[in-house]
Amino acid sequence: MKITGIKAYQVDLPLKEGKYSWSEGKSVDVFDSTVIEVQTDAGVTGYGEVCPLGPVYLPAYAAGVRAGLQEIGPQLIGHDPTELEKLTRTMDYLLKGHPYVKSGIDIACWDILGKMAGLPVCNLLGGRYGDDVVLYRAISQRPVQEMAENVAAYRAEGYRRFQLKVGGNADDDIARIHAVSEVLQPGDKLVADANTGWLVHEAARVVNAVRDVDVYIEQPCASYEQCRAIRQRTSLPFVLDENIDSIEMILRAAADRAMDVVNIKISKFGGLTKAKQARDLCASLGIAMTIEDSWGGDITTAAIAHLAQSTPTDLLFTSTDFNSYGTVCIADGAPQRVDGRMAASLEPGLGISPRMEILGDPVVQIQ
Ligand code: MG
Repeated sequence: MKITGIKAYQVDLPLKEGKYSWSEGKSVDVFDSTVIEVQTDAGVTGYGEVCPLGPVYLPAYAAGVRAGLQEIGPQLIGHDPTELEKLTRTMDYLLKGHPYVKSGIDIACWDILGKMAGLPVCNLLGGRYGDDVVLYRAISQRPVQEMAENVAAYRAEGYRRFQLKVGGNADDDIARIHAVSEVLQPGDKLVADANTGWLVHEAARVVNAVRDVDVYIEQPCASYEQCRAIRQRTSLPFVLDENIDSIEMILRAAADRAMDVVNIKISKFGGLTKAKQARDLCASLGIAMTIEDSWGGDITTAAIAHLAQSTPTDLLFTSTDFNSYGTVCIADGAPQRVDGRMAASLEPGLGISPRMEILGDPVVQIQ
């Protein structure tokens, strides 16, 4: 079986809330997503999606996905899409770094593998745990009271896990964490994600001020070493995200006991193949995980659901339904949230069909 063509489609994903804001005044109004289509000589086509959180979150940007595909795509023609470890090594040989560029192709090839095998990607990633997976809701950074109201509103929709976007002014962030903790109920979980936004002295103030709150602290500072310094000064459970982008970093952070939970984003690692490797390592080490991506629409959400539901339930801290944040549906068959949870499709592959009328004409075409 051979790859015969690669196409990419650009799609805008506006937000129901109008704007998504996080640390240091960063925000996105309309997400720029890329849908990747991989065609084969067997007549089976696979789809993937890559959507950076704007250009200022990870070392990734939307136009870079398309530029990177132009760079490596022509050299992938003729490769077997079902030999995913080999394909991953080939992509790493062709382009050093830039994992997010490779993620969409890798996801599309898992879709192809599932369709050829007649099995959902979830089964191929290790097996399906439970009926569904638990979701968190990201609470965009807003004035204190507005964030508490938004948590209450999303709680009423069924979410029980909330990720507060902090990493702004430390005094405001302390107030945010306290205000939100008051609208939660027993069993709910609260994460304060600073997205690298605090300096060490600010992070130290925040963790001291909220030490009696039942809250997880996520990625307080920019560097791994700064986060470790804060980790050593707090007894609160600790999540790492932006700094953990490779197997090497997982091993290092595990050896340092630097995290209780790690955030595995598919495109941060370079696709499902590498995210699975990271997931399996964390499962073996007993480290709980949030399974998600940087952002995305229906196809990303489907890929997340397959990886999340093939993760042992006790090790899955939480997952994400990005397709419920946007106003545009780009594929049929994607998971739909019910009571704060979602399930991976039972259909072969990712179980999605792109809405070609929404995707329009391809912006990248490689044959
Ligand atoms: Mg995070």
